[in-house]
Amino acid sequence: MRDPAQPTQPSTRYLEAMRADTEERARLAGPPHSVHSGAPDAVLRRLRAAVEERRPRIIELSRAIHASAELAFEEYRSAALVAEVLNGAGIGARVGAYGLDTAVEASWGDAESGRTAAVLAEYDALPGIGHACGHNVIAAAGVGAFLAAVDVMRTIDPARPLPGRIVLLGTPAEEGRTGKEIMARNGAFDGVDAALMLHPSGDDAAEQLWLGRRTLDVDFRGIAAHASAQPFMGRNALDAASLMYQGIGLLRQQMLPVDRVHASIPAGGDRPSIITESSRVSVYVRSAYPETLKELSARVEDIARGAALMTGCGVEVAWDANPPSLPVRANRELAARWSVHSQARGRSPMPAGVVSDSLAASTDFGNVSWRLPGIHPTIAIAGPEVAWHTREFAAAAESPAADDAAVDGAYALAATALDYLCDDALAAAVEQEFTAGGGAIDVPAYFD
Ligand SMILES: [Zn+2]
Ligand SMILES: [Zn+2]
Repeated sequence: MRDPAQPTQPSTRYLEAMRADTEERARLAGPPHSVHSGAPDAVLRRLRAAVEERRPRIIELSRAIHASAELAFEEYRSAALVAEVLNGAGIGARVGAYGLDTAVEASWGDAESGRTAAVLAEYDALPGIGHACGHNVIAAAGVGAFLAAVDVMRTIDPARPLPGRIVLLGTPAEEGRTGKEIMARNGAFDGVDAALMLHPSGDDAAEQLWLGRRTLDVDFRGIAAHASAQPFMGRNALDAASLMYQGIGLLRQQMLPVDRVHASIPAGGDRPSIITESSRVSVYVRSAYPETLKELSARVEDIARGAALMTGCGVEVAWDANPPSLPVRANRELAARWSVHSQARGRSPMPAGVVSDSLAASTDFGNVSWRLPGIHPTIAIAGPEVAWHTREFAAAAESPAADDAAVDGAYALAATALDYLCDDALAAAVEQEFTAGGGAIDVPAYFD
């Protein structure tokens, strides 16, 4: 018998079918291949040893950041932990960079001698549930990758030094914010040729869909009146909010299948006896391409203006209280190198198109990926049934599987970065793919 005081329980059948389909697609497709040779074997041999040597510190850093669990823009302890590990390895780290107090920067090598690859490290957590997105693993893998790559560059034959430069960027405030966009606007990626990071997940995927996301706050202005004695003298801002909410509901049928719009009504009036004078609707708008995100944004704004018109209310729309996130544009050539090196660690990352698009989230790495070539693969720390932003994922992010992922990820990120620095043909292919896809766009001006 159904308890009417409780919600109905969603069937898990679709999730199960989706997982089975994903497994089958992954089996048929196999991990992505690379036609390029990447860094010389001697470099990778040294890298393997360097990562092994750093294993305890990588895991220690992952666990320590997990225990700190600081929110966006407040990651002071986490940034200090990252800097401490870098300084301990004899690399001068800068805390506070590119407009953010909790950003970290370190670099090694000579920009004049070749290309520059940046490895990105996130370390912000979520309110209430801590590191339920596993950014501690991102930080540990990123720092580990940077230091292991530096070890290789330091100790390689001085007669034949490796070309180029590697940079570590500690990038705060991904959750609900857009820290990387702030850093980018302040020059963090000037002089960087490629950007690499990973994200822990329920599976290994070299590529998957990451939607772009914008936020919208709509304020409706009505006129208060006694709801019984003189309702005709009022203009009801709750009616406007309600019509907007319903308009979004009806819009959904005509949206792209992967697009998402979700809304809440944080302010809708106080008393039933007072015609609501002001209301607010807060909306997230998500889409798979910059162009379609722009189009969907305009349609949602039309709904807000239409709702105001229908109810005689005034309306003010405020887009992007934080800078918007663009969808991730992964560089397939680099993703293929990541795949090669992940396989060397016993992993089998899925190629693009295998992870179901209906599981897509958003990340501010998207904004980086429209400025320069980059990758944002996922690495498994749990089974596919464990979703992001849950207590179960937070527990997985401090498990032995997460420790292994941080170390494997450090290797694969560093190896991909060294491939990019050492292999001119690969770098040319990376650049060619990026240019063929339209090159860099003016991200800050895109939605103006
Ligand atoms: Zn998250
Ligand atoms: Zn995340």
